[in-house]
Amino acid sequence: MSKLKSEVIKYSKKLNITNLSPLRSGNISVRATAKGVDGFYITPSGMKYSILKTKDIVFVSLKGIYDRKKSKPSSEWRFHQDIYVNKKKAKAIVHAHSTCATAFSCHQKNIPAFHYMVAVAGGDDLKCTKYATFGTKELSRNIIKALKSRTACLIANHGQVVFGDNLEKTFELAEEIENICHQYINALRIGIPKILSRKEMKIVLGKFKNYKKG
Ligand SMILES: [Zn+2]
Repeated sequence: MSKLKSEVIKYSKKLNITNLSPLRSGNISVRATAKGVDGFYITPSGMKYSILKTKDIVFVSLKGIYDRKKSKPSSEWRFHQDIYVNKKKAKAIVHAHSTCATAFSCHQKNIPAFHYMVAVAGGDDLKCTKYATFGTKELSRNIIKALKSRTACLIANHGQVVFGDNLEKTFELAEEIENICHQYINALRIGIPKILSRKEMKIVLGKFKNYKKG
């Protein structure tokens, strides 16, 4: 149990070090069971990651219940809850206000297959949600929609969210999404890039699937 909490702290600090999300922005969670209740451990609301201790990490049940006498969970805990409820494969979630993903999300557009690595999100494009206020149920709903057949999406005028098998892989995916956004913004600076065909992306997605299995 405390091992999972320590993992959450380790990767929260990494959010700051890698510049994926400065100061208190972004949040991290991992699926867990505490005292027989299914839920997740998540970073607390409003605390700098550099000073986090295991006692500050909050357990929230899949029904959205947490101990009100302890630290408050991140104000964005709702979409973590909804991702864990809707995506059985989600074991960890990383949400970041990383610069390029956030900049691109302000255009409220999907990122097409300008590069084959777009397939890391699970399909032939990277979706962006519709806009909704942070912390709301509406935002949660929009995220679940954008994550249909995907493990990552951009959140309109906000940032990015990704999920995966464990925190290490999930964190890497968030870094990859930031990288893709950075490359796409640069590609757009010299005109409209050529987009890979659906047929080609089908081949790429097939290769990614085999690669994961192997
Ligand atoms: Zn956020």
